[in-house]
Amino acid sequence: MHFATKAIHAGQEPDPRTGAVTPPIYMTSTYSQKVQHDYVYGRGDNPTRDALQQSLAALEEGQQALCFSSGMGAITTALTLLKKGDHAVVTDDCYGGVYRIFTRIMSGYGVESTFVDLRDLVDVEDAFRPETKMLWMESPTNPLMKVADLRELAVISKAHDAVSVCDNTFASPALQNPLGLGVDLVVHSTTKYLGGHADLLGGALIMNRGDLYEKLKFAQNALGAVPSPFDCWLTLRGIKTLAIRMERHSANAQAMARFLGGHKAVSAVHYPGLPDDPGHRTAKKQMRGFGGMLSFELRDSAKVADRLRKLEIIILAESLGGVESLIEHPATMTHSSVPKEQRQAQGITDGLVRFSVGLEDPQDLQDDLGRALA
Ligand SMILES: *Cc1c(COP(=O)(O)O)cnc(C)c1O
Repeated sequence: MHFATKAIHAGQEPDPRTGAVTPPIYMTSTYSQKVQHDYVYGRGDNPTRDALQQSLAALEEGQQALCFSSGMGAITTALTLLKKGDHAVVTDDCYGGVYRIFTRIMSGYGVESTFVDLRDLVDVEDAFRPETKMLWMESPTNPLMKVADLRELAVISKAHDAVSVCDNTFASPALQNPLGLGVDLVVHSTTKYLGGHADLLGGALIMNRGDLYEKLKFAQNALGAVPSPFDCWLTLRGIKTLAIRMERHSANAQAMARFLGGHKAVSAVHYPGLPDDPGHRTAKKQMRGFGGMLSFELRDSAKVADRLRKLEIIILAESLGGVESLIEHPATMTHSSVPKEQRQAQGITDGLVRFSVGLEDPQDLQDDLGRALA
């Protein structure tokens, strides 16, 4: 089955009892043990969550999926694969919440981490230690849109007996499937493209390894960061249009990248869909489209806040992946928890702007940006 068909049908077969075409929302905390024994308590299992887990496993070409109350709920649960004395190699340009959990929470439990630019495979190899048990990847990264070679990195991780993890939120399963490239575990914030409408929070872990599934399924119930049945249903509803949304997100982002690249107020555009972008070749190898996220640098960093406030259609807000265009200033918003020196060393300058290109008419988006940057 092709992706667009799976997005509509996998896990979403008509209800065998009633024929309902849309999966029902099972709002229940517990289940009678007189009639069945598959379901015991709502933290452990829920049929609406099962439907979403089946859908996500199919979309990522995985065997198993587990859903959570947020992307960070999924990430927290994945990090319980690590124990005291273990070490993780982490992409330096990671989601701010991932940086925060490794440096402020996991460090307190005796788990060390080293942050490296995953584009340099020699640096990655050098960062591994005998006690390295996890490689944490994102591609494209947030907010600099760096592209890492997932296939090569999965090989390095395997050679060191570490679990390779890829946060696939930016690409979405419509454009990239890390498990097929040899990665062990895929992470999603379903809050973003999978949900797609800025109306829910959710997370997921997807894998092809029974041993990982057993551990993570146990942790899902033990830690309890589970999603509500209603949020699972909303996510399933969003997923039905994922294929067509990602096509349009990618086309709009490509148009905006071209427009911004030719604008005099802009000194650089980071988008793997641009033929001269450093990530273009690797992205072409492992992605089916370049996605709806881009970032760009304004020449005059003192004017960033004023300019973003002039936008009328594009909304100044954190988050991404919804139908509406959102724009934000990483240095003062999403990445303010990363210390300034570290931010600058990574290239997250004060002039950098991150843009989640929505599904509006591209001409309207271009006019809005043109007015704000004039
Ligand atoms: C948003 C996001 C997360 C965290 O997800 P929440 O649903 O906000 O908890 C993790 N990784 C990436 C790449 C994200 O964009």
